[in-house]
Amino acid sequence: MIPQQPHHLTHLDKTYVWHPFTSNDDWLDPAFTPLFIERGEGALLFDTAGNAYLDGNSSIWTNLHGHNHPGLNRALIEQAQKIAHSSYLGLAHAPGALLAEKLSALLPGEPGQHYRVVYSDDGSTAIEAALKIAYQHFQQNGQAQRTHFLSLSGGYHGDTIGAMSVGHSGSFHERYQPLLFPTIEVMSPACYRCSFNQAKPAQIDARTSRVCDSQCITQLENAFREHGPQLVAFVMEPLVQGAAGMVMHRPGYLKRARELCEEQGCLLILDEVLTGLGRTGPMLACHAEDVRPHLVALAKGLTGGYLPLGATLVAEPIFQGFSGAFEKTFFHGHSFSGHQLGCAVALENLAIFERDHVLERIAQLSGKLRELAQVFWKHPHVGDVRQQGLLLAIELVQDRTTASPFSNGTRLASKIFAAAIKRGLIGRGLANTLFLVPPYCTSDEQLERMIEALNNSLHEILPS
Ligand SMILES: *Cc1c(COP(=O)(O)O)cnc(C)c1O
Repeated sequence: MIPQQPHHLTHLDKTYVWHPFTSNDDWLDPAFTPLFIERGEGALLFDTAGNAYLDGNSSIWTNLHGHNHPGLNRALIEQAQKIAHSSYLGLAHAPGALLAEKLSALLPGEPGQHYRVVYSDDGSTAIEAALKIAYQHFQQNGQAQRTHFLSLSGGYHGDTIGAMSVGHSGSFHERYQPLLFPTIEVMSPACYRCSFNQAKPAQIDARTSRVCDSQCITQLENAFREHGPQLVAFVMEPLVQGAAGMVMHRPGYLKRARELCEEQGCLLILDEVLTGLGRTGPMLACHAEDVRPHLVALAKGLTGGYLPLGATLVAEPIFQGFSGAFEKTFFHGHSFSGHQLGCAVALENLAIFERDHVLERIAQLSGKLRELAQVFWKHPHVGDVRQQGLLLAIELVQDRTTASPFSNGTRLASKIFAAAIKRGLIGRGLANTLFLVPPYCTSDEQLERMIEALNNSLHEILPS
């Protein structure tokens, strides 16, 4: 076989492939040559020419313990040597059953309470399942007037029609608005750009310096008061709204949201597709406020970044409401529901957390990240540096004292990360906010190099 040369691959890619979330004009620009990633090792990615790059976005927020991980590789190979996939319609398998018990145990709660797991393919499908289950639950249990979903401004829950409907992300969803079902939007409890926050912008996390009357909570209470009896569920990303720009919530909001759902008799659906599996510090973000949701969506890190697998965890009493008549069945699923390879790798992923004391390492590494990230405040166009666990966002503004934004078209993040590639860092941001999302296996020294590459790229593109 003649080895494929990268320029030939570039030609094939630019002729036949359509990449996700990618502008045609950027990708097809003759001056642009994409990197072809050939292999990985821990926090490093290698291209076809053998150059190494630090994976500063954990391969779009999916990778946890590193690439080419011996334990995950072993779990994958051992499972593949048995069977890759068998139908989950009317059949069962060990990896699916073992994983479901482990996932249920991740949630806070009293003994005797547990969750059922609906397996799917990714984050979007995990959310779709949650929405349909919540809706059907009320339809067939005497509360058919509950038909509306409440969700947060800026929220992002995936790209399928239902997931987009509960999302409120202008640039991603606007075009499809006529196709989406109507949902009720409530302001996001994020402090930096909050119009109610009276604090002068200072070089400190806006959540800790905020001066306000907690209007975000009042508005949530008002929305519940106004729409309560019609609500199926409140859908939210707990603590951090990723695709909204890594906006981070004031403490206490999640807890209050749970109480309001209880008072109004609707469900709380948490989208932990990004925040789950240690990303914000605890195993799940809902632990931060000791909140037990009715439904939770997991995906991204569920297989440690190895395979597409989604899981919707459903509190047992909701599952019970689908019993007693054939028509109450949840008629929903996918060809690859309960994929055996995915379940086997996810089991090993969870085992690694215990075996390698990963949550302790996350705590250490996020402490280190907090120290290192202070360097960004030295740049006059840095308006906010915010962090939750191993999620870091650096928001660039025209004027720090007024927090006046650069226009979205400035696209500083893509320019800065293009410069970072030359310094051996791969990352991604959104508009004018830079994200750093390191894998948990990142060494202190690798983290220092990530920050240095990002900071130097920032100064190159936006001289201070
Ligand atoms: C990525 C993401 C999704 C969508 O997951 P996919 O696997 O891309 O379908 C949903 N919710 C959140 C919070 C996400 O970050």
